[in-house]
Amino acid sequence: MIENLIRSHLKAFQPYASARSEVQQAQIFLDANELPLGSPVTFDGVPLNRYPDPFQCELRKKLSARLDVPADMIFTGVGSDEVIDLLIRLFCEPARDSIAVLEPTYGVYRVAANVNAVEVISIELDENFQLDLVRISKSIKSTTKLVFLCSPNNPTGNLLRREDVFTLCKELHAIVIVDEAYIEFADALGDITNEVERHDNLVVLRTLSKAWGLAGIRLGYCIAHPRVVSYLLRIKAPYNVNAVTSHMALDALEKPEFLASSICLIKRERTRLITALKNLPDVVHVYPSDANFALVEFKDAHAVYERLARKGIIVRRRSEQRLTNCLRVTVGTPSENDLLITTLADRT
Ligand SMILES: *Cc1c(COP(=O)(O)O)cnc(C)c1O
Repeated sequence: MIENLIRSHLKAFQPYASARSEVQQAQIFLDANELPLGSPVTFDGVPLNRYPDPFQCELRKKLSARLDVPADMIFTGVGSDEVIDLLIRLFCEPARDSIAVLEPTYGVYRVAANVNAVEVISIELDENFQLDLVRISKSIKSTTKLVFLCSPNNPTGNLLRREDVFTLCKELHAIVIVDEAYIEFADALGDITNEVERHDNLVVLRTLSKAWGLAGIRLGYCIAHPRVVSYLLRIKAPYNVNAVTSHMALDALEKPEFLASSICLIKRERTRLITALKNLPDVVHVYPSDANFALVEFKDAHAVYERLARKGIIVRRRSEQRLTNCLRVTVGTPSENDLLITTLADRT
């Protein structure tokens, strides 16, 4: 199925053979026109004058051990946003193919499709923000190559039912992408990385930007069938992930205790924040959340947004019809959450 879905000109495509993609070990490297004298700035012993490993073997090996998934099923990118763009470019023919998005959801899928002149088929999630399998199969076209799912979903905060995802994988002649950017914050067992080996057309997106606290280094990755990974490696920019980023990512992965304690604190604060929000007179509804944010419906979201902004507190507006009067609030530190709650409670 994968071969059928890939854009035909990319199957015969000759990728750039970078200097370092053939030989990794040598006595001296005179192949890449690098400066042999070192660099004017240094970072933790990283040889900044040298190009990074185009295939990020060490990092992919480490992720592989952590996730218990073979390294040839992992592709690393400049944030998951780069992986999203590359998946669209690998599978979708501009002005012909389409992607499907389940709304309300993360806006980058649509923007990345628009940039690539790929049509976006918008399908609503059901009243509980779950997948409506009948509506999805009715809406999908023969040109739909990718279906983007997000679990826990941004901005609604809920996990999608796993069985529904697997049903879609079985029923659709398309790649099913599950974006798990917030999965570490989920209470229930949610992650499906180990299911990729059972479903050839399933791709799972992950990132270090959220629970790992590393949005600034730009590292995301996907777990996918080895064929998909090998194509992604061929079409990406030769040195997409930089040496500082992969050095820091490797370092961070050695510190799982930071991740564990962050998750613990954010979950505790999430419960406290949601409880406090529910008791505020301006709040109509707080949606349950498996992520590090909460979707909150207010009587007048516009007024609340303006009032918070005047006090220097910025939250996220969502303007879709179904989310009128909703704001998405990220769980902050205990004192940030206190400030948010007292500011909302004080209506003067
Ligand atoms: C924040 C977020 C990401 C992360 O993107 P990066 O490019 O890895 O920083 C991905 N997907 C969703 C749904 C997000 O909300």
